[in-house]
Amino acid sequence: MTLEFHERDDYLSWGRVERRPQVVARPASRRDLAPFAHGERRPRLAVGLLRSYGDSCLATGAALLDLTRLDHFIAFDEASGLLTAEAGVSLGEIMRAFVPRGWFPPVTPGTRFVTLGGAIANDVHGKNHEAAGTIGRHVASLTLLRSDAGEVTCSPTENAELFAATVGGLGLTGIITTVTVRLRRIQSAFVDAEKLAYGTLDEFFALNAASEGAFEHLVAWFDCTAGSRNLGRGIFSRANWSPFGALEPHRERGLLRVPVEFPSFAINRLSLRAINVAYRGLELRGLGSHRLHYGPFFHPLDSIQGWSRVYGRAGMYQYQCVLPPESAADATRALLDAISRSGEGSFLAVLKAFGALPSPGLLSFPRPGITLAVDFANHGPRTLALFERLDAIVREAGGRLYPAKDGRISREMFAAGYPELARFARSVDPACTSDFWERVRP
Ligand SMILES: Cc1cc2nc3c(=O)[nH]c(=O)nc-3n(C[C@H](O)[C@H](O)[C@H](O)COP(=O)(O)OP(=O)(O)OC[C@H]3O[C@@H](n4cnc5c(N)ncnc54)[C@H](O)[C@@H]3O)c2cc1C
Repeated sequence: MTLEFHERDDYLSWGRVERRPQVVARPASRRDLAPFAHGERRPRLAVGLLRSYGDSCLATGAALLDLTRLDHFIAFDEASGLLTAEAGVSLGEIMRAFVPRGWFPPVTPGTRFVTLGGAIANDVHGKNHEAAGTIGRHVASLTLLRSDAGEVTCSPTENAELFAATVGGLGLTGIITTVTVRLRRIQSAFVDAEKLAYGTLDEFFALNAASEGAFEHLVAWFDCTAGSRNLGRGIFSRANWSPFGALEPHRERGLLRVPVEFPSFAINRLSLRAINVAYRGLELRGLGSHRLHYGPFFHPLDSIQGWSRVYGRAGMYQYQCVLPPESAADATRALLDAISRSGEGSFLAVLKAFGALPSPGLLSFPRPGITLAVDFANHGPRTLALFERLDAIVREAGGRLYPAKDGRISREMFAAGYPELARFARSVDPACTSDFWERVRP
């Protein structure tokens, strides 16, 4: 069947800042993709559920191939936990099918609405980075459709250079069609979690050091409006999979939905402070030890569909960087100070340590150190000027930004953070492109 392409103005990335119409096709099966391996030269980008915040999942003027209908499981080996599936299967679908059998994805980001292909193309990380590293470490093999080589199987040992370029490769090395990934055994669908309030950044670092090794999942929420003595104060959360409780998957029914974009005045300095104080109040009430279902623990925002619409028509950015261990303490303090002084930022502000397990991708974002992620309403030049100040701190500290969250990084900043960029560029499929790549390519 010939694929139909349509111009669509509803294909927006999660941040909703860019509003350029996209030309989109939704293949119904892997067969529909065959022309892309045999001579079809149309510039293209495979995409999943568009949970990337910026422009790495957009390709204006080229074709977007929405792979979410390629959502079939192909094989599962109960002994090893190896699952082979089409790349458009979402992590949520894997959880619904495999949690009852005692298996879970090895790594999950803060939303389960991501496809396997998207998760690999950003080499995503979760709260268990110290223990498990990125998702790419758990990929046994994948198949890629290349415009110049047809179907290619890649793994850490077969076509290893292409594998390293494809994991974290932002969809630029070809179309990932199938993936074999190793799931993790679980005894129940619950985690035993502890929430602890901390008052300063030094306390965050101390809590993290004391928790590493003893807890698989570690993360902190911090109040990005708090300055001076309270800089970095927040709630530290640590957890392990529980041996107790049923193997019941999450439910997708009954989710709340943000139906329309909020007016832009809804997020301002005052409402931000109020939300942070309220959020801190809620979290403080939840302090202590709890047994929680994996849904609210890993994906608290998934219960509100389309929540990024609360930022209004101008959209929002997320700024996420990683800072190497030697400069992490000073640079984190400098970033938090700049953010709290700016009055920007929001209730979604996260601090987390990345462990030492190496990421397999040439452009994988995680590296040892501290990662900080903060959402910002888009206030135009004011927000972009703040990001320039944050970029200078990150660059000086030897850190880098996460492409999955980015929609504005400069070519120089990207090249400074990713030393393997030139090597990566040699594996790019000549027919693949994205708005992000057009901005940063060497
Ligand atoms: C609420 C929220 C929380 C998040 N938390 C985290 C987190 O904790 N950790 C983390 O690492 N990330 C996190 N993210 C980011 C998210 O995990 C990534 O952006 C992920 O890649 C999105 O997957 P997707 O299916 O939506 O892919 P898309 O956003 O549609 O695409 C992402 C990239 O993958 C490529 N791609 C998609 N499918 C294919 C394919 N089949 N073949 C080749 N390339 C493909 C695209 O070209 C693009 O470059 C979060 C995002 C949200 C909205």
